[in-house]
Amino acid sequence: MTQNVVILGAGVVGVAIAYELSLRPEFHVTLLDTQPPAQGSTGAALGVLMGIISRKTKGRAWQLRRRSMIRFPELLQELEQAGCPVPHNPDGILKLFDAETDVSKLENLQQKRHDGGWQLELWDQGNINETCPQITENICAGAVYSPEDFQVQPVPFVQALLEVAQQKGIETAFEIESPKLNFDGGNCVSVTAGDRLFSCDWLIISAGLGSLEITKPLLADFQMKPVLGQAFHGKIPNYQAPDFQPVVSYNDVHVVPLGDGEFWVGATVEFPDDEGNLAADQDLAQKVWEAAIAFYPALENAEILRHWSGQRPRPEGQGAPVIQPLQGYQNILLATGHYRNGVLLAPATALKICDWLLAPETIPR
Ligand SMILES: Cc1cc2nc3c(=O)[nH]c(=O)nc-3n(C[C@H](O)[C@H](O)[C@H](O)COP(=O)(O)OP(=O)(O)OC[C@H]3O[C@@H](n4cnc5c(N)ncnc54)[C@H](O)[C@@H]3O)c2cc1C
Repeated sequence: MTQNVVILGAGVVGVAIAYELSLRPEFHVTLLDTQPPAQGSTGAALGVLMGIISRKTKGRAWQLRRRSMIRFPELLQELEQAGCPVPHNPDGILKLFDAETDVSKLENLQQKRHDGGWQLELWDQGNINETCPQITENICAGAVYSPEDFQVQPVPFVQALLEVAQQKGIETAFEIESPKLNFDGGNCVSVTAGDRLFSCDWLIISAGLGSLEITKPLLADFQMKPVLGQAFHGKIPNYQAPDFQPVVSYNDVHVVPLGDGEFWVGATVEFPDDEGNLAADQDLAQKVWEAAIAFYPALENAEILRHWSGQRPRPEGQGAPVIQPLQGYQNILLATGHYRNGVLLAPATALKICDWLLAPETIPR
């Protein structure tokens, strides 16, 4: 019998879950959002997928990254075949490091990745100068190059997943009033949104920072805080683009080539103060832009087309992301709190939720 799954939140996480479930005939999916899709944190993201290049080598953190980096290329291919190609930068990620870096740790990481069947290269200054002349000569001590990591444009990615999931029959309602959950004991049996009622066998809460508002009345024992990020979209007039343009990252500042001399640059990492106030700090944004110019000098001539900020959902008291059943409830699953890696981890999150719905006895209780 088909099971009704209601998903709250149409950011990259909720939409990835909706897409993955839409491939399984066992489920009828309804995706609800109080805004249009991809307006939350996802709308601010740079889409840099630091999977293989991340320092995580074991446990859940690595398993999620590994699973996402296997699923991502398949997803892009599925979406393209369905007529919804997603703009992405396939040139890999180049992470520069300074003289303080312990290179033996990077060699260790490289070995571990090779043992797992992934590629990771360690470059010296000569390699960098020769392969990426767009980077300031001798600005760093070396770099790690990951050819299998890449960057996707998050909003078109969400739109493509959504369009194909809709073709496969998911139901959606956006810009709805705050949904109300209706219970029978420890089961959420339906969700009311305005004058519409959606019955549910499973409820997935993937509302990013909005997840707190939904779970507060349910006495959930998890907390999240927003962490602000600012980023820029620049265009370099008459840019003579080199053939090879990976995402370049140095000291947590990413330069993302988009083609046609356009770039994204970001992002700041700004925490709320003790009173919970969080306002974009212009000086920090300026520092990020200047740091980018220091290693990617052509940006000096860029015209800034857009400067924006967004808030990342960061869990408190537990690691990101939060993928778990909501304690005290039989059929509610949380898929939230992805902090700085929601785009990267969305495919793996979606597969995990799918695994659990197909085999509920495997849900950790
Ligand atoms: C500047 C910046 C740069 C970033 N760069 C990267 C990057 O390079 N790579 C990466 O992997 N990640 C990046 N991130 C992090 C990434 O954006 C987030 O981890 C990710 O978008 C979280 O996705 P989400 O779907 O959980 O949340 P969101 O995108 O916030 O979506 C949540 C949705 O839930 C909806 N909602 C809220 N309340 C309710 C409710 N009551 N009912 C129904 N719907 C509701 C919202 O309207 C929203 O659409 C970046 C973030 C920022 C701010």
